[in-house]
Amino acid sequence: MPAADRYFCDSPIRGDKAVLAGAEAHHLIHVMRAGPGTRVILFDGTGWEYSAQVEAVGRAEATLAVLDRHQVDRELPVEIRLGVSLPKGDRQKWLVEKAVELGVAGIIPLKTSRSVAQPVEQALARLQRGVIEASKQCGRNRLMEISEPQEWADFAIAAPAACDRLLAHPDSVGRASNSSHSRSREPRQGLADLAAASRGPVYLAIGPEGGFTADEVALATSAGWRQVDLGRRTLRIETAAILLVALVSSVGGRW
Ligand code: SAH
Repeated sequence: MPAADRYFCDSPIRGDKAVLAGAEAHHLIHVMRAGPGTRVILFDGTGWEYSAQVEAVGRAEATLAVLDRHQVDRELPVEIRLGVSLPKGDRQKWLVEKAVELGVAGIIPLKTSRSVAQPVEQALARLQRGVIEASKQCGRNRLMEISEPQEWADFAIAAPAACDRLLAHPDSVGRASNSSHSRSREPRQGLADLAAASRGPVYLAIGPEGGFTADEVALATSAGWRQVDLGRRTLRIETAAILLVALVSSVGGRW
């Protein structure tokens, strides 16, 4: 883990100087009470990490000398694109934080027929701030993308057919029974096939609290998505999302 505190610079660092402004400057100057001479790590979302030293602090801005730079890769070897009908409030924030920690490349908020309202611009900006906070903590040097909300059909059809595409949806036949032997199929069938799969992007889809409708599932499966059952309990959106990301990223020791 990096020894010094990490700060995000929202414009690419090119020369031997960097300037922090906004929330990051506030954190450095007023929360950490850093002054000239304090050593920090900077990252700018390009995959590089910079050792830097504070030169001067103002009320709302800090100037730093860039001492050293390294390309540090803490990304997953597999690119995970997570389509999810976002839960509300704090659970949404939690999901974004954990997705960053686990290495998800991008979240696409999904509009499905049973979705509650998806985030508007201001809420997306708050989530974006959550991405930065989590990246500072976990050491990622690339920012997880949060896209504009997308209609389910558009997302399901646009995900390239050559990629692994997994839709989390309970297996109703297996669930209705008490016996594990009477399940209609292997619970992790969709995942078993992944082991041998290519290292191209993997698309995942998690439905809303009310679940995907039968039509929504049919749309995806007819486009070649595989359905994945995540066990006999009904999981919250964020639990299902994190479990599926963890399962996919651990296939073949990919993390
Ligand atoms: N009442 C809904 C459950 C919704 S849970 C139903 O029975 O379908 C929210 C989302 O989390 C689901 O749409 C699904 O994508 C995922 N999920 C939750 N539990 C799951 C499970 N046991 N297997 C597969 N997906 C699950």
